[in-house]
Amino acid sequence: MIESVSASIMAPTGPRRLSLGWESAHRPSPSGRVVFVSDLSPRPRLVMPLAEHVAGYGRLPSGLTMRMALDTLRASNLTGRGGAGFPFWKKLQAVATAESRKSPVVIANGSESEPLSKKDTLLLKNNPHLVLDGISMIAGLLGAKSAYLYVKDREAHTAVNAAMRERRERGISELRVTVVEAPAGYVSGQETAVVRRIAKGPALPQFSLDRISTSGVRGAPTLLSNVETFAQVAIVLRFGADWYRQGGQGSDRGTRLLTLVGAVGRPGVYELLPGATLAELLREADAGDPRAVLVGGYFGRWVDLGTPNSTNFPMDDQTLAERKLSFGAGILGVVGHDTCPVVEAAAITEYLAGQSAGQCGPCMHGLPEISTAMARIALSSDVERGMHDLRAVIPLVEHRGGCQHPDGVIQLVRSTVGAFAEEVKLHRSGRCTARGSHTSVLLPPGATVAAGAVVR
Ligand code: SF4
Repeated sequence: MIESVSASIMAPTGPRRLSLGWESAHRPSPSGRVVFVSDLSPRPRLVMPLAEHVAGYGRLPSGLTMRMALDTLRASNLTGRGGAGFPFWKKLQAVATAESRKSPVVIANGSESEPLSKKDTLLLKNNPHLVLDGISMIAGLLGAKSAYLYVKDREAHTAVNAAMRERRERGISELRVTVVEAPAGYVSGQETAVVRRIAKGPALPQFSLDRISTSGVRGAPTLLSNVETFAQVAIVLRFGADWYRQGGQGSDRGTRLLTLVGAVGRPGVYELLPGATLAELLREADAGDPRAVLVGGYFGRWVDLGTPNSTNFPMDDQTLAERKLSFGAGILGVVGHDTCPVVEAAAITEYLAGQSAGQCGPCMHGLPEISTAMARIALSSDVERGMHDLRAVIPLVEHRGGCQHPDGVIQLVRSTVGAFAEEVKLHRSGRCTARGSHTSVLLPPGATVAAGAVVR
């Protein structure tokens, strides 16, 4: 029998769900399906006060049981927003049923190790109470005595600590959430790196035969998910699966926060409502006539916009999967006609090769070789040899790392040479379609690379 949460609390009206009440000027698209919620400026934000938060979302539901939560989360099909897109209810069930004498641990990962991502930091700065609601509900259901928020951004730390003080003063939640600083580095946000760091070890991935759901922080069953996922949990468990799934298509029909960066007039964080198309999103972002979009961040895949109808599809998980795309870490990188996407990808590959934790041979030695091969292709220095080296090295590296880092790089490389096969052909004869100076629009400012791209 399904015993789930019904929408006993009035659901938020209007198009915004996670971004309800953010201080930035909201501007829904004409269809109302794309909401520009914030630019990327580092200026201090106004945290939504607790009273406003409760007025917007309602109080935390009472009498919630694990059975009700699991049924509701399963019916909602809520998937993780940090990259892997794993169904949240399965994670919860795995930790809830883990055989262990140790009390479970809950971790919300807001480290955003993808340098271009800002959605989680901005969510924490603007609406920390929604994330804390999700953490306290899940920790309460699991009987967890320890909960952690793993965050890199200093202002997000401050916002979360202030929100927790406010909750304690108002008697909203007894749970103490420890904020742990995430160090710099691309792999510091990887699952096992987070678990090691929380246990006061180095923030480096660790190979283990055990899943963290059975043996995570100091051997305790551990539920780790992205901060946006916890915010989504907070609204699903308040308003029910039916409300969450209204409209749109695909299995996970909830809204999504996306960081949109690159060659657009309005970079920022957007909330995507069910049914929103890529064309609509690019229009809202003032992208003009872009050349290509990297969907899902550095481990994502390219959409070549030179092909007809390439943006006219809804951005839902099902449609993306049919096109071999995924939201990944919730980042869309737009490249214009000034820059060659192959040069851009070669520069990202070089950056990622430099981010290896240096613990596994195939990753430590193989990624620099893949990066060199990509540079040959990008710079038209010896495209034949570059392609040959990719074919030779990739099988020696793929699935041989202690974490997903090398496989993510390989996915980007394969997508690049596949989506831009014509461009690669041009490079063979020393030509390139880029009209500009190859200034990278997707590398983090200050990154040092030699793969032909000029860094801002
Ligand atoms: S695969 Fe690379 S990043 Fe991952 S643990 Fe091994 S060396 Fe570190």
